[in-house]
Amino acid sequence: MMNVEIYDTLSHKKKRLEPLDNTVRIYHCGMTVQARPHVGHLRGYIVMDALRRFLRWKGFGVKLIQNITDIDDKVIEKSRAEGIDWRMLAERNTQELVYVTSALNVEPPTVMPRATQHIEEIIRLVSLLVDKKHAYESAGDVYFDVRSYPRYGLLSGKNIDDLESGARVDPSENKRDPLDFALWKSAKPGEPYWFSPWGSGRPGWHIECSAMSTHYLGSGFDLHAGGEDLVFPHHENEIAQFEAATGEPFAKSWMHVEMLNLSGQKMSKSTGHVITARDVLEMYDPNVLRMFILRVHYRAQTEYSFEGMEEAKSAWERISTFLTGVESSLDEHNIVLEYPEFESALADDFNTPKATALMFELVRQGNEALAAGEISKLKEVSAKLNLALDILGFKPRRERGSENLDKLVSIILEFRTELRKAKSFEWADKLRDAIQGAGLVLEDTKDGSRIRFK
Ligand SMILES: [Zn+2]
Repeated sequence: MMNVEIYDTLSHKKKRLEPLDNTVRIYHCGMTVQARPHVGHLRGYIVMDALRRFLRWKGFGVKLIQNITDIDDKVIEKSRAEGIDWRMLAERNTQELVYVTSALNVEPPTVMPRATQHIEEIIRLVSLLVDKKHAYESAGDVYFDVRSYPRYGLLSGKNIDDLESGARVDPSENKRDPLDFALWKSAKPGEPYWFSPWGSGRPGWHIECSAMSTHYLGSGFDLHAGGEDLVFPHHENEIAQFEAATGEPFAKSWMHVEMLNLSGQKMSKSTGHVITARDVLEMYDPNVLRMFILRVHYRAQTEYSFEGMEEAKSAWERISTFLTGVESSLDEHNIVLEYPEFESALADDFNTPKATALMFELVRQGNEALAAGEISKLKEVSAKLNLALDILGFKPRRERGSENLDKLVSIILEFRTELRKAKSFEWADKLRDAIQGAGLVLEDTKDGSRIRFK
């Protein structure tokens, strides 16, 4: 069996995925839902969806946890600005994420936990840190004592003294050291809060992910994923919190998906420098965005642009046009279960640009076979292409069309059966004649009727 290797940010090398019981446990930092998802968020969701499909095809079980940060400063701020309850704002944006990801053929995660559903686990972890003197309470806030954890900085390659000199102190915080970060924030008047041993307040952002990931996956889970912008401080802090609290290893491997920028800058909800997921879905077939994203390696930065999307669109059209050509030339299809070149591209740090290039090579060969009338070659090529599309989560439109057609056919057949049961033979025969008049074949067998397309 071909091993799957993914580049690990912590050890700076490709690392083999070796789940203990054949189930790969993955935690992927999901959205903070202060606003609607933008196309920058979708890169991570699409890459993780394709990776999960590939791993499953390789025979692994996959447990994928994608959290929702539904409480934080920005959620509170934004809901005040809109004059609505923070829960309503968070839920609205969460539902928008569910809608757009499902429209993009991204499968729902195994669990999509919300931070507010895990306050108990968060408080337990913070208490452990306080007990072990890795955290301290200060005027109702609780801070992590960064200097108490010597391994701090290993993931991001940062030196603690350099960080110290660059750190700024926010006068509203009550830290002992500017490097320390909040685990628990006391509630100001009018803010949402939960009860805790340190008074009413809410969790800090970083602690949520340490608590939720290990709640669902246990310690030492296989892969922690997230955007490149989360390496520091978010992921650095996640490691420090969990390992200092428990003495157990947190995640075995770290996968970071690079940014999808817009005119050279990171997309950001706060500056309004964004293209929403909805905008893209209104303009393009979902497969086009998947193509745009998977043609670039997940560790390469890329730029969202109209030209880039148009290019992805014509690339996708080359595939869908070919598939339509195949549909009308073949009345039976082959199925292949193996495609070693494609598999080895993906097994090697999920090299989707190489994998998609192979797909276009198949289309080229397939078009040649079509033109030359080489049916067996065409069958082989289209079978490989269908396997590749399936593994990466593309969903050609004809599938949806044929599903609908199947439904329609069964409605017509049921209707005809009812007519015959009701002894309306005249109408049943009229229906049969109409079907046959349209050039289709209707067969009555002892197991029921079926319609065949000539
Ligand atoms: Zn996170």
